[in-house]
Amino acid sequence: MTAPPLRLGVDLGGTNARAALVDQAGALVASCKLQHDERTPLAVARTVAAAVRQVAGQAGVAVAGLGGAGVGVAGQCLGATGMVLNAPNLGWRDVPLGDLLRAELGLPVRVVNDLSAAAWGERAFGAARGVDDAVLVFVGSGVGAGLILGGRLHEGGSGVAGELGHVKVTPRGAPPRRCGCGEWGCLEAYAGGMNLAARVREDLAEGRAGAVLAAAGGDPGRVSASAVEAAYLGGDGYARELWAETGELLGTAMANLCTVLNPTRLVLGGGVLLGCPNLMRISRAHLGDRTLRAARRGLSVEAAGLGDDAGVVGAALLGAEAAVAHDR
Ligand SMILES: [Zn+2]
Repeated sequence: MTAPPLRLGVDLGGTNARAALVDQAGALVASCKLQHDERTPLAVARTVAAAVRQVAGQAGVAVAGLGGAGVGVAGQCLGATGMVLNAPNLGWRDVPLGDLLRAELGLPVRVVNDLSAAAWGERAFGAARGVDDAVLVFVGSGVGAGLILGGRLHEGGSGVAGELGHVKVTPRGAPPRRCGCGEWGCLEAYAGGMNLAARVREDLAEGRAGAVLAAAGGDPGRVSASAVEAAYLGGDGYARELWAETGELLGTAMANLCTVLNPTRLVLGGGVLLGCPNLMRISRAHLGDRTLRAARRGLSVEAAGLGDDAGVVGAALLGAEAAVAHDR
């Protein structure tokens, strides 16, 4: 069987499930985003199924005719087994998401980490198009990476390769911060948007970070990486210190990744990096300084090209490949 002309991709985050039908050129023919009412695995699977029915309806096709589904999940996934080991934003541990979705959709389902899906999408149609050795690093509410090595998606021995957010980076002179994954001193505990905001709120309680609070309109609940960036632009010393530390941690982790994997393309994305040009600049300066010189040669750094669509597009491609393999 050949792959059907429309491919079904799902991007599953802590707040929304987004389904899309993607054509052969990577364009979204139909798209639907639904918010989770509750985050129990069964409720989320039903929300995904509802979003899938909506996009099928928009495109005038039957769900059963779609062949298969690819689902990118913000969490640690046990490769092609469909098991989600740990998804902090959904509050999940050891959830058999693939089985739940197969039952709801009646289709073969390929579950994959959301950044692996995004890397595959960027490689097919975005900033890593046609590149065989590409690394994608996203810094948004969390931090993660997707790895294309030798033209293939690299998911590792058990499927959790690319968890850049959970490399340990405790800065000098400070006790490690706790990460959403339950471990201590992870990069994401310092550079992920949710943890950055939490840290600023802690510093507010100690009488620091006033300029960041002002940039957030005086509401501690609206403190964010963008507010730090705004305070930085205003010359605030606290924001400068925070960006100096965060940029050093991020840039060094990315440099180490490039030193180990020797990609020819590094694709950077996510709301925190793309929305905070000064954090991007500082991170890239450390990336340039700290990548092994031999690995720096031939490395180009690009901003992600598909925006929020990379994940659904990549998931759709991976789902279609899995469906073809399933039918063989
Ligand atoms: Zn962690």
